[in-house]
Parts: sequence; structure tokens; C-alpha cells
Amino acid sequence: MPTTESQALSPTLELAIDLLARPSVTPDDEGCQALMIERLAALGFHIERLPFGEVDNFWAVRGHHGPVLAFAGHTDVVPSGPHTNWETPPFAPCIDADGMLRGRGAADMKGSLAAMVTAVERFVAAHPDHHGKLAFLITSDEEGPAVDGTRAVVEHLRERHERLDYCIVGEPSSSERLGDVIKNGRRGSLGGVLHVKGRQGHVAYPQLATNPIHAAIPALDALVREHWDDGNTFFPATSFQVSNLRAGTGATNVIPGELEAVFNFRYSTEVTHEQLRARTEAILDAHGLDYRLDWTLNGEPFLTAEGELVKATIGGVEAITGQRPALSTSGGTSDGRFIATLGSQVVELGPLNATIHQVNERVRAADLDTLSDIYEAILVRLFTSGEAS
Ligand SMILES: [Zn+2]
Repeated sequence: MPTTESQALSPTLELAIDLLARPSVTPDDEGCQALMIERLAALGFHIERLPFGEVDNFWAVRGHHGPVLAFAGHTDVVPSGPHTNWETPPFAPCIDADGMLRGRGAADMKGSLAAMVTAVERFVAAHPDHHGKLAFLITSDEEGPAVDGTRAVVEHLRERHERLDYCIVGEPSSSERLGDVIKNGRRGSLGGVLHVKGRQGHVAYPQLATNPIHAAIPALDALVREHWDDGNTFFPATSFQVSNLRAGTGATNVIPGELEAVFNFRYSTEVTHEQLRARTEAILDAHGLDYRLDWTLNGEPFLTAEGELVKATIGGVEAITGQRPALSTSGGTSDGRFIATLGSQVVELGPLNATIHQVNERVRAADLDTLSDIYEAILVRLFTSGEAS
């Protein structure tokens, strides 16, 4: 089996290993973007570094006319936790005896970044005068607060009326085998913190107190039982989950004065966050609670149902793997939610997500070469129509 030392590596794996060796724990980039920029500049990309706050980002473009396709991704990774929990050191990438490339970020998502760069290198070599404009939108703040990263770059592009037709995000979308799932949207995420006020007192004198736990339980039960929507072809039904519930002083003989419940909606395109807020408040009001509610909109849902990008992506996966991918909107939020606001068609396609954010993160090394071939096949479909390729 291949190892990093004894056998020649593909350009994709070489670049992936160079990126993985840099401990770019969010929001640090640790020179990953410089590596990518060097390769893209050599291909004739016009590079714009767009740092915001402590976050490094860049936007790179090649070509002068026609539709714009951007590859999007992040160079930051989640922390590794104690290195002693890992079978191999998280920032000393290697390919093991089973052909797995190991290291923090192998799947999420430095492997994809390497595959994008090498796909574009081959595509540009074969089609130096390609139609359309190729772009990269790269950030080092996807795993952190995600404020000064893609969101800020997107606002910058919006201000100067930059066109973005297609976007391929390299998030690890695959489930059982490479390319079996393409994400063509994501659910929205709406968070809430509910504070229910009561009146503290002695459990032996309940007539002198108001128990916020007793008041909140029927209301929370109603929220849990509420049928928010049926979902649709692309989205499962909207779900409401309570993630934290706190009340009580610790003493067994005290009725507490307040209860706090933290909850989250993952919602489909069948409802809006405004509707979810209004319906939640109506249910709480109907139960007569004395409450305060703080909302956080983490991300609105987006969907790329049909169109050239979905068609080209399915076609590219099918041509390279021989298998037809499924479309899915499952999983958490991604930077696709910001990019979609530019009116861009957005898909997410990357390696298997089985080990992301875990210790011993790894991805089949050969899958990264295949992924690079798929990205190239998508480019050929979108940007060489009518050209003999
Ligand atoms: Zn990621």
C-alpha cells in the first residue's frame, strides 16, 4: 500500500498533505491560502486577498466573460483535542496501510481544496481559452463564528455587483461512497432562548409562589407536539428540539423563580423564520406564561432545485463513478447559505463525512483523486459546450 515516503503521490494528494501539515485551527490559516494562491496565480488567476478582522479570505478569478463558477471552501479546521487521543498526530498527515489519508481536515475540507486546485490546473491546461469565469472563494472562518469569513466576502462581492452564477462548495457531502450524495440546499436554523418567570417560594407553601417549571412544561410539550409543516420534495418536515433546560436552586424545598429553555428549529422552505417566531409566541401566549424570548437566526434555508449546475454535477459524478448521486438537504448549516443570497446556484460535493470533527479524521486517499476528476468533469460540462474536448 502507498505511504507518503515510498511512492510518488498524485498532485492532489501532495497538495492535500501540504495543507494538512499546517495546523490551521479556526480561524488561523497558517499559510494554507498562500499555497493555494501560488498555484492559482501560476494559472493566470487574478488574486484578491480579503482579510476581515483576524480572518484570512481570498477571491480569485480567471477569465473575462460569461457565467461565473466559483469553488468555495475553508482552510480552517476544528481543534484536534489532545493529540494523545489520535492514532497518528493530527497535523502530521500520512497515508496508512489501508490507503486512508489521515489528519485533521482530511475530509473537512483540505482534501476538497486540493482536488479543486488540481482539477482547475488540468482544466486550464486543456482549455486555456475556456468559456466563462473560474473563481475561488476561500475563507479561514467556516468552523468558527463564520462572521468575517464567507459572509463578509459575499457582502463585499454584493457591494460591487459581482456576478456569481454557479458555486461548488467542497463540504464533505458523501455518505457511503464518494459522490453518492450531493447537497443542493440546506435547512434553515433558528435558535431561541426562553426565560419563564415565576415567583420563588417554599415547596410547602405553593400558594405563595408561582412555579415556572409547572407553567413551562405544558407549553414546551405543545411546542414539541406542534406540526410545523410537512416538508417538501427536497426538505424533511421542520423540527423543533429543546437542547437545554435549566431551573431550580439545587435545594429540594425551593420553588425556583425562573426557568430557561434553549431550543432550535431546523426548518424547511415551507415556512419562514417570521412564521416560526409568531407561531411559537402564540403557543406560549395561549399557555399564559410570563416569559421573555431571545431569538437567533443562524441561517435561512436555501435550495438549488434544478438548473445547469445540478445537471452538470450529477453528470460529472455519473461519468466518473458510474453511479447516479442522490440530492439531499440534510446536515447542519454551511457557507452555502451566504453564497446563495447572491442568487447563485449552489451545490456541495466533497468526500465521505464519516469522520469529520472526530479524532482520527481520515478519507480514502484515492477518493481525492476521483473527486478532482469529478470537479474537472463538471467544469468541462459547464464551460466547454460546443468545444471539442
Ligand atoms: Zn467544512
